[in-house]
Amino acid sequence: MNKEFFIFTPGPVKMSREVLEESSKQLPYFRNQEFSNVLLDCEKRILDLVHAPQGSRAVFLTASGTGAMEAVTSNLIGQDEVSLVVNGGTFGQRFIEILNIQKKKSIEHKVEYGSNIDPSEIETIDGVSAIIVNGHETSTGTLYDLNLLGRISKEKGAVFIVDAISMFLADELDMAKMNIDCLILSSQKGLALAPGLSVIVLSPRAVQVVKQNRENVKSLYFRLSDYLVDGDRGQTPFTPALSVIYQLYVRLHSIDKNGGAEAEIKKTAQIASYFREQIKGLPLGLFSKNPSNAVTSLTVENGVSAHKLVQDLERLYKIQVCPNGGELKDKVFRVAHMGDIDVDYTWVLVDALKKYFERGSGI
Ligand SMILES: *Cc1c(COP(=O)(O)O)cnc(C)c1O
Repeated sequence: MNKEFFIFTPGPVKMSREVLEESSKQLPYFRNQEFSNVLLDCEKRILDLVHAPQGSRAVFLTASGTGAMEAVTSNLIGQDEVSLVVNGGTFGQRFIEILNIQKKKSIEHKVEYGSNIDPSEIETIDGVSAIIVNGHETSTGTLYDLNLLGRISKEKGAVFIVDAISMFLADELDMAKMNIDCLILSSQKGLALAPGLSVIVLSPRAVQVVKQNRENVKSLYFRLSDYLVDGDRGQTPFTPALSVIYQLYVRLHSIDKNGGAEAEIKKTAQIASYFREQIKGLPLGLFSKNPSNAVTSLTVENGVSAHKLVQDLERLYKIQVCPNGGELKDKVFRVAHMGDIDVDYTWVLVDALKKYFERGSGI
């Protein structure tokens, strides 16, 4: 199978050589102090990177991000509690679905695709015990105002839950400043690792809620209080995605060496603005009114189907960008700026887009 592509999809993203090399090694036994030290080191570094308040904890879950979303609502939201969910795309909709399955009531704050939240509407909604948002709604490339939502959550006394999977290391993220109680991260987006590992960061308040809710969680695998207990000594209740954890360890050390989260965010922002600048003049429009650095979502303005363009880029230039689904299928596609890429790598896509539109569509 040919896996040699230039890759601009929001997960998986391009992984660094050192991360790839790490996962080619034989895995040793892990119920020992050596592995515990690795996991404890990863926890400490993650907490630092997201500016978690003193006393916060990180839980390592072997699941893709959706598993972590499900675990969070299972453990942080009581059966009779009502959550407010920001829904402006596929991932907002996913939270609604999860809560429906769990038979927990949710109030949707509907956001027009690509637009920001409307705080005046959110402020009028009372009686919610949690506010839930995908900080970057990856399906539209839109970054929401987390400072604002954090302030509103605080006023309402609600637990603030942020799925930051596709904004971590791409956009500013500060748990303390943004009043975030629970953060969901996952391996295959900004972290640029293989899929399969998610990290849930809990503020001291969220840790308390998780512990209090222990008996109400109808899941063994996702009962986070058990992860907290085992996590104290650097272990997990079940076999973790060891290879991805070793990748994480390598990646976190490399982030530290290269200037921390701020340097990562700056690099991603530079690539995003380079790309957005370079495609000016092409028949492409920015879809999101408030784009994340992680993703540029684009409309195609010359009548070519966005879906066809995605297929053509792969066929003609060995470049993978990301199609949209549903009603945006023929209108929008997305380009990610995460992972081990730089401006030169991004130029390959810019050049291909220029050639593609020069030779005319419908090829
Ligand atoms: C990718 C992503 C997820 C997780 O999706 P999985 O397919 O389960 O990995 C969740 N939320 C957001 C915002 C994402 O971008």
